[in-house]
Amino acid sequence: MSEHPATTGKEATTCAIIGAGPAGMVLGLLLARAGVEVTVLEKHGDFLRDFRGDTVHPSTLRLLDELGLGEQFAALPQSKLEEIAFPDGDEGLVVVGDLRRLNVRHPYIAITPQWDLLNLLAEAAEKEPTFTLRRNTEVTGLIEQNGVVEGVRYRERQGGTGELRADLTVACDGRWSIARRQAGLRPKELPVPIDAWWFKLPQHEGEESASLTPTARDGRFAIVIPRSGYYQIAYIAKKGIDASLRARGIEHFREEVAAVRPELADRVDRLGSMDDVKHLDVRVNRLNRWHTEGLLCIGDAAHAMSPIGGVGINLAVQDAVATATVLAAPLRKGEVTSSRLAKVRRRRLLPTIAVQALQQLLHKGVAEPIVEGRRTGPPKPVIKLMRRFPKLSFIPAYLIGIGLRPEHAPAFARRVS
Ligand SMILES: Cc1cc2nc3c(=O)[nH]c(=O)nc-3n(C[C@H](O)[C@H](O)[C@H](O)COP(=O)(O)OP(=O)(O)OC[C@H]3O[C@@H](n4cnc5c(N)ncnc54)[C@H](O)[C@@H]3O)c2cc1C
Repeated sequence: MSEHPATTGKEATTCAIIGAGPAGMVLGLLLARAGVEVTVLEKHGDFLRDFRGDTVHPSTLRLLDELGLGEQFAALPQSKLEEIAFPDGDEGLVVVGDLRRLNVRHPYIAITPQWDLLNLLAEAAEKEPTFTLRRNTEVTGLIEQNGVVEGVRYRERQGGTGELRADLTVACDGRWSIARRQAGLRPKELPVPIDAWWFKLPQHEGEESASLTPTARDGRFAIVIPRSGYYQIAYIAKKGIDASLRARGIEHFREEVAAVRPELADRVDRLGSMDDVKHLDVRVNRLNRWHTEGLLCIGDAAHAMSPIGGVGINLAVQDAVATATVLAAPLRKGEVTSSRLAKVRRRRLLPTIAVQALQQLLHKGVAEPIVEGRRTGPPKPVIKLMRRFPKLSFIPAYLIGIGLRPEHAPAFARRVS
C-alpha cells in the first residue's frame, strides 16, 4: 500500500474508486488482486461509523471463504441469526425466512460491526502492491472532457486539493453519491412508508442478548441489535414524522421506546436529547442507467435499499464482484468501453429488482399496516400459510440470504486461507 502525504497536484491511476464502503473496498481488493492499479478515496479517516448495516449474509460469507478471508472473518466478534421472524399478534413468532434451510456452508446471517468487515477487507487489500487507500480524502467533483469522465477532483482533510486521473471512475459513494449527481444520473424513487431512528442504549452485564425480532405496538416497531456492551436500536415509524418527533422532545421519545420495548424502560433516560437519535430517511431507488462514459455507479450509488432484510451491504458486495469480474481484464488492457460498463448493470439488474420488489412487498404487507396501527405483524393468511407449510420460509431466506444470480470470486481473486 502506498501512503500519500497531503499533496496538491495531478496524479493518475487505472481505476479510481470513490468511497470505501462495502462496494468500494471489495472492488478495490478484487481489482488489486487482478493486478489493476486502483486507488480508493474515502472522505473519513476510519471506518468507525455508527448506525450502518451490520448484516453479513450467506452470499457474502461464501465470498469471504473464496477470497481466503473466511477464517479471519470468523474470528471477529459476531452473533448469528438463523431465522427472520415476526411477531404474529397472538401466538408468538412466525418464521418468514429460515436460513437453516439453505444448502450453504454458512446458513445464517452474521451480525458484525461494519467497521470490522471493512478493516478486514482493507488489511487484505493493502497487501497488494497495486492498491492504494487514501483516507481523509473527499471527492469534490468529476474531471470531465467532452462528456467523458477522466477522473476526480479531491480535497484532503489537511487542506490539500488535487486531481486523480483514471481510465475508469467507479462511484461507490453511497446513496447520496456526488459522482452520480454530477454525471446527471438520477435514480427513480420507489414509495416507502417508513423511516428509522437509530440510537444506542447500554446492555446490562449478564443480560441475555435480545433477538433481532421486531416488536410492534400502536403504530411503531423496534429492532434491537446486540453489540458488545450496548444495543443498537432502530425505532421504525411512519415516514415524514421526524420534525414532529423532534418537536415533541426526548421525554416523549423515551416513552415511545419504553412502550414498544418495555425491557428497555429502565434505561431510556440514557438518551440525553434528540441529538442522540439519528434519523434515517429510508429510501428505495434505482438508477435506470448505471454508467456514463468513464464512470460506473454500483452499490447504494446505483440502488438505495430499505433496511428491511438487511440486504444493502450484500447487494453492494455482489455488485463489486460482478464489476471486477467483468472489468478486470479490460482495465488491464486499457479497453474499458461503455458497452462493457453496461454489462455490469445487465448482470446485476435482475437481482436488484427482485430484492427491491420483495422489500416493496414487505413494506406494503407488513411495515405499512404496522406503522398505521392496523396490525402488529404479517397478514393472518400469510401467518397461517407459513405455519402450515414451514418449508415456504426457504423462499424469502434464499432471496434475502443468497439472492438471484449470486456472484462468486473470480479465479484471479481466490486465495486459500
Ligand atoms: C442506518 C443504516 C442502517 C443500515 N442497516 C443495514 C443492515 O443492517 N444491513 C445491510 O445490509 N444494510 C444496511 N444498511 C444499508 C447499507 O449500509 C448500505 O446498503 C451499504 O453500506 C451500501 O454500501 P456502499 O458501499 O454502496 O455504500 P456506503 O456503505 O454508503 O459507503 C459509501 C462510502 O463512500 C464514502 N463517501 C461518500 N461520499 C464521498 C466522497 N465525496 N468522497 C469520498 N468518499 C465518500 C462514505 O464515507 C462511505 O464510506 C443500512 C444503512 C443505514 C444508513
